[in-house]
Amino acid sequence: MPELPEVENVRLGLMGSVVGRTITRVSLKRRDIVHGQARPASLLTGRTLTRIDRLGKQLALIGGDEGGTPVGCICVHLGMTGSLRYTSPSTLKAREGGNNPAKDPHIHIRWHLSDGGTLIFRDPRRFGGLWTFDSIDELHKRRWSYLGEDALTITPAVLHSKLDRTRRCLKTALLDQHVLAGLGNIYVDELLFTSRISPLRQACELDRPEIQRLVRQMRALLSRAIQSGGSTLRDYVDADGQSGRFQNQHAVYGRGGQLCTRCDRVLSRVVLAGRSTVYCENCQA
Ligand SMILES: [Zn+2]
Repeated sequence: MPELPEVENVRLGLMGSVVGRTITRVSLKRRDIVHGQARPASLLTGRTLTRIDRLGKQLALIGGDEGGTPVGCICVHLGMTGSLRYTSPSTLKAREGGNNPAKDPHIHIRWHLSDGGTLIFRDPRRFGGLWTFDSIDELHKRRWSYLGEDALTITPAVLHSKLDRTRRCLKTALLDQHVLAGLGNIYVDELLFTSRISPLRQACELDRPEIQRLVRQMRALLSRAIQSGGSTLRDYVDADGQSGRFQNQHAVYGRGGQLCTRCDRVLSRVVLAGRSTVYCENCQA
């Protein structure tokens, strides 16, 4: 599943390719991927894309009217296998007569843009979807207010107040999007390894210096992962169709039974809250 670094790469790609373009036409193939109104205007037909926002693993495509006033918003959750991809007019032209992505059954919606390019949402397993709102404020009020703060910007004090309230183990608490938004199985395991904290610790047990270390390491880890284009395990690609490279730098995720890169002992694998968790019992005591 795309986590914060992958979703941020999609956002950065879209900022460069679709922001400033007007949506001339929308072709919706599957109504059931849209939650809320699915009228052409709700899907931003006739609107100019003014900005792409992100909170945790979710994106917001923000539409504006001719004067640039924000007038609509689509929240996109990529789920397990979702992708948002821009295709330029020249690529579309080169494809004509060749393999025709218009026939791809997993493309559920296609926005036609004023430059002649298209933006598509593709999601084979359909755990993702679109949520339409009248404005970004409505999205914040009705959907994003249930999420914790973004993992890239949360402060130690806020994270401390959230973790202090739960007796769950740290791994489970950090995966909870209501505690903090953006981390999934990959980055929680990597974060706890670089922070030298055991995933089995009770969340409310962490003291202030440990939380400060956790937040410092989290920003550094996520920044490095964003720089490397995120992690591609199976199907993640960014807005230009490129895979990430950060999977080559994973120290623990998916490496249970292999040797710790720091101390050479065998990495342990346990299942916590149904999620496979890999850590070093020696380095993360
Ligand atoms: Zn170790």
